[in-house]
Amino acid sequence: MTTPLPPQVMEYFPYPKVRIHQDQFINTIYNAINKNQSVLIEGSNGLGKTISSLTACLPTAIEKNLKILYVARTHRQHERVIDELCMINKKHPISGISIKGRNEMCLNAFAANGAFDSKSLMEMCDLLKAKGRCPYYKNVERQTYDYLQIVKQLTTKPYTATEIQQICKKKELCPYELVKAALPDTRVIALSYLYAFDPMIQTAFLKHINTDLSKTILIVDEAHNLPETAVDISSNSLSLFVLRQAEMEANNYGNKDIEQFIHYFRNEIDQLTANINREEIINPDKIIDIIKKGGIPKPRNFFEHMHETGIGIRRTLLAEGKNPRSYINSTSDFLLQWLETCDSASYINIASRYYTEKSQTAKLEIVALDPSNVTEPVFSNTYANVIMSGTLQPLNAYLKITKLSKNTAQFIAPSPFPKEHIYSAVCYGVTTALEKRTPTMYKTIIKRITEVVENTPKNTGIFVASFDVMNSLLNEGLTLSLDRPLYKEERGMTSEKNEKLVSDFKTCGNKTGAVFLGVLGGRTSEGVDFPGDQMNSVVIVGVPYAEPTPRVKAQIDYYEKCFPLFGREYGYILPAMKKASQAAGRPVRTLNDHGAIIFLDSRYATGYCRNFLPSWVNNGMKALPNQDNILAKELKTFFQRIPDATTKSTP
Ligand code: SF4
Repeated sequence: MTTPLPPQVMEYFPYPKVRIHQDQFINTIYNAINKNQSVLIEGSNGLGKTISSLTACLPTAIEKNLKILYVARTHRQHERVIDELCMINKKHPISGISIKGRNEMCLNAFAANGAFDSKSLMEMCDLLKAKGRCPYYKNVERQTYDYLQIVKQLTTKPYTATEIQQICKKKELCPYELVKAALPDTRVIALSYLYAFDPMIQTAFLKHINTDLSKTILIVDEAHNLPETAVDISSNSLSLFVLRQAEMEANNYGNKDIEQFIHYFRNEIDQLTANINREEIINPDKIIDIIKKGGIPKPRNFFEHMHETGIGIRRTLLAEGKNPRSYINSTSDFLLQWLETCDSASYINIASRYYTEKSQTAKLEIVALDPSNVTEPVFSNTYANVIMSGTLQPLNAYLKITKLSKNTAQFIAPSPFPKEHIYSAVCYGVTTALEKRTPTMYKTIIKRITEVVENTPKNTGIFVASFDVMNSLLNEGLTLSLDRPLYKEERGMTSEKNEKLVSDFKTCGNKTGAVFLGVLGGRTSEGVDFPGDQMNSVVIVGVPYAEPTPRVKAQIDYYEKCFPLFGREYGYILPAMKKASQAAGRPVRTLNDHGAIIFLDSRYATGYCRNFLPSWVNNGMKALPNQDNILAKELKTFFQRIPDATTKSTP
């Protein structure tokens, strides 16, 4: 039985039926937003989180004239928002646009190919516009009747970024500028995390759309990713390579003082890191002392001078029709950030030595430890926030780490999957705990994997704790033990190669089945959906605890200071369990899916670990004894019960 949705929500909800537990999900969000309250909510796949959050927020957004910023990681997720808005639009007119980064929307080949990240493209684009050197922008500036009509059209119904790009190519207009013109009158904007959480990008974006955070409802999808993204946003690095390029640049442009300083600084960093084994935390004052000893008594003044010099070089390069990249600029920005963060306990400074393809090199890093430095200023300034994902437990930890307001509503929606659709089990007698990694242990793990693969109708995914564990399994004969083709992720694989590998594996779901071998926390185990026979079973081998590097230890210590007794849990256990939970959800994407989720590490059987698994995995999870063929029998029974088992039977 579902509870009726409020009439205000029904005005927007476009489907004839509300799914089981979807009503609770929608009502929780609607009630919170209606009271100007944020909500932290976990809901599994198959619940319809996108349509639920949109329809729950729209009544308040329209009544109070607020914008909805829907942030998610991938373009596919942004397009799904627009697809759902198109459904809503059949019932109630609503505008919505999904936007890509300027670097993906830009039609100016010179800028798009020359920029190395979104910030550099932003700067490059501004320079091109100021110099009147972008024809697509010039066509926007003309403000022709045709252009104004297109802007108006964009505010009448939902459009994806891809559709807008197609319109712009035809009309030779800058898609980014066109979108900017339409956004002030657009109700829902689907976009990447950076627009909301990168302070520089957010400020520019809100200015363009003529609003501020207080006039927005923020929906954060796949929010389990947010703490990591927030930390990445405020971290930075400077390599010897960049320093070398900056030195050459200073030489080319005759900036003797900068050239001398960078030459000296580069040698000092090279020497400082010469004996470092991988990485070391360093006192930031050590670097400031080095800088001062290099004849720079007022570092800030000098770095600002470097920054201005870099801007000048970029302008010159642009005037010459070249890519306006300045390494002096990148170096000065890093060093200014070093000065700004050196007294903060929420940052550490790392010096590391590492190998590139050609040689050994080194870098300095500013590593942020506190995601709330980025999330709190956003969460506390919006009208309200909807923070949702399939894997957010324990909610209280998430609330504390991101500093969401204490009065945030919290809810874990029950799984909409019928019990018989998900089989989950943990096996005793196997583990990848360091002290137990023996050839015998790996052979036992292989035996269990074989039992899964042989009793899975088509495709199986195996996600392992690390590449070391993967190599050990391969060395102990995993490939030979499988009677199906193995598709294997490689360390450092390009995204194109990985996409091809995944797509080839998926097609085996239509044939006789295959096995995918990847690492937990990798792009396949977290970012790819495998509905239907694309993955019937998933095996999680080991608990993917991070290597106890100095930065991991610093993160644990930092959380321990902020949240006494919880440092290890927040800095070490939770990230690992999130990776495992994400992988566990790969085969169960839609309500029609049936999936077996097998944990091959007895540590998952402890009450402590199980607390961190989402309820749709944990509820009903069986603990299997350390005996051969028990897992095989369990899976045989599970898959035989599937209604179309005849088409899914083992070949
Ligand atoms: S104005 Fe538009 S097309 Fe021109 S460089 Fe900027 S983003 Fe690219």
